[in-house]
Amino acid sequence: MLSRVGLAGYTTADGLLDEDEGADDQEGAAATERATGPAARRTSTSSRLVRDAAIGARVKELHRHACQICETRLQYKRRPYSEAAHIRGLGNAHNGPDEMPNLLCLCPNHHVLFDGLEIYVDVDGIVRRTHGDKTVGRLRQHNSHHIDGAHLDYHRTLCDLNRMARS
Ligand SMILES: [Zn+2]
Repeated sequence: MLSRVGLAGYTTADGLLDEDEGADDQEGAAATERATGPAARRTSTSSRLVRDAAIGARVKELHRHACQICETRLQYKRRPYSEAAHIRGLGNAHNGPDEMPNLLCLCPNHHVLFDGLEIYVDVDGIVRRTHGDKTVGRLRQHNSHHIDGAHLDYHRTLCDLNRMARS
């Protein structure tokens, strides 16, 4: 991007560019549209957060891929399937840490609902619906997987804001 505005070779005020930003030049050439055949491919660039897959894998293994909310243990392609959900999001607005106390092992349904602020964990460890407070179940815990209550507080606050915004 900097080459377009004549600043190639300089660093920004934030410091050195990461590799993703430097790879921007290929984008235009690859963006050709086609009338028929396979969907056109487009090389895009973005700055992505690097997640440590090993941490998520460890949480899922500890829980043997069973959802901590509903105990669902999906079989997918002959293997158990679960998702590691961050309690406090990793992105810019939330800046949650990528570590086990900020993770839950969830089934895809509960992962979506949790990320979408449709369910939360109350101070007693009960999972409730954001709208109506109806009980969903109890969050199952594992001795070797400590969950940081401060992250659950943070998520609960977001759910409160979500509730207020809709009411
Ligand atoms: Zn579930």
